[in-house]
Amino acid sequence: MPNGSSSGRNSSHTSAAEVEADDEDGWAASASGTARSAGLEVAGLDVIDAPRAASMLRATEPGDNRANIPAAALQDRGSINRRELERDLREALNAGQLHLHWQPIVNCLTGALHRFEALVRWDRPGVGKVSPATFVPIAEALGLFKQLDTWVLRTACAEALRWPLAYRAAVNISAHWFQGEDLSHMVEAVLRGSGLDPSRLEIEVTERVFIDNPGNAQRELAQLKALGVGLSLDDFGTGYSSLSYLRTIPFDKLKLDRLFIENLGTCRRTEVITRAVLQLGAGLGMAVCAEGVAHQAQLEILQAYNCDEAQGYVIGRPGPLTPERFALYTRLDRSSLFMGPELLEPDPRNPA
Ligand code: C2E
Ligand code: MG
Ligand code: MG
Repeated sequence: MPNGSSSGRNSSHTSAAEVEADDEDGWAASASGTARSAGLEVAGLDVIDAPRAASMLRATEPGDNRANIPAAALQDRGSINRRELERDLREALNAGQLHLHWQPIVNCLTGALHRFEALVRWDRPGVGKVSPATFVPIAEALGLFKQLDTWVLRTACAEALRWPLAYRAAVNISAHWFQGEDLSHMVEAVLRGSGLDPSRLEIEVTERVFIDNPGNAQRELAQLKALGVGLSLDDFGTGYSSLSYLRTIPFDKLKLDRLFIENLGTCRRTEVITRAVLQLGAGLGMAVCAEGVAHQAQLEILQAYNCDEAQGYVIGRPGPLTPERFALYTRLDRSSLFMGPELLEPDPRNPA
C-alpha cells in the first residue's frame, strides 16, 4: 500500500525549504525537494546554487511544484550549463532515452479501468531519474516541447493500439502549443500515422492554455474536439483562469487537482469545493476525475460524493505497462479498494 507522502504542491509558493519531495514511483521528486536534499543540484540541471533554486521555485505559481524556469535564467552563465542540458535533452529525444510510465484512471465507484495516462520519464545519463515536473518546463523554455509531446503522443498511440478497444490513452500536451496553430495538425497526423481511433485518445491540457492567447486556445481545442479526441482539463482548480471558458470549451472531463484531494477528510472547505466541482461537472456534462487519490479514506469520501473517476497511488502508481500490470488493472476483482463485489460489473459508462 502506498505511503501517504505529502506532496508539498500546495506549499511550493511559500518556501522551497518547506517542500517535501514526492516519493511516487521514484520519479516525482519535485524540483524543490531535490534542491533541498541535494543542496547544489536541481534534478536535470547541472550546477545551480541553492538560493537561486529556491528563488526559481518561489517564482512558480501557487499549487504547482513545477520549476517554472525562464529562458533568461537558463542562459545565465555560471549558474546552469544550458548547452549541456539542451544537448542532453535533444539527445534523449533522438536516442530513445525517454520512456513512458502509465497510470490507471478508473471508475471511482467500481474500479473499472477507463484509461491509462502516459507520463514521460527521463533517465539522464550520469544524473539519473529526472522528474517531468523539472524537465518539461525546461523543454518548454528551450523550445523542445513540440518534439517531446509529439514523441510521447506517437509512442502512446502505438502502445494503445495493442490494448483492448475498451481502454483509452490520455496524453499531456504542453500549454505552449496554444501560442501557435499546429497542435491539431500534429495530433491528426499522429493519429492517422498510428491508425488509432481518435475516440481512444484523451488530450490533457491545463488552464494555462487560456493565458496568452485564449482565442487561439479556444479554436485549437475546438479543432481537436472535431477530430474526435476527448479533452480533459488537467489540474483543475489551481490555474489562473476564470470559469468563463467552461461555457464555451467542450471539455469532456475535469481533473480535480490533487491539492483538493489531499485535504479531503481534514478540511471542510476543501470538501465544499470538491462537492461544488462535482456538481459543476454533472451540470455541464463533464465527468470529474479526482487526481492524486493516495489513501483509501479519500477514495471512500469521493465515492460517497459520487465522483466519476479516480487516479492516484491507492489505485495504481505510474509504471511501465507490463502484461502483468495491465492484467492487474483490467481485472474487475480489485474489490478491496472499491465498494463491493456487486458493483464490480463491466462499466456501462466506459465507451467500448
Ligand atoms: P499531471 O498530468 O497532473 O500528472 C499527474 C502527476 O501526479 C504525475 O506526476 C503523477 O505521478 C502524480 N501522481 C499520481 N498519483 C499521485 C498520488 O496519489 N499522489 C501524488 N503525490 N502524486 C500523484 P509526474 O509523472 O511527475 O508528472 C508531473 C507533471 O508533468 C504532469 O502532471 C504533467 O503536467 C507533466 N507531464 C508528464 N508527462 C508529460 C508529457 O508527456 N508531456 C507534457 N507536456 N507534460 C507531461
Ligand atoms: Mg495529466
Ligand atoms: Mg494533473
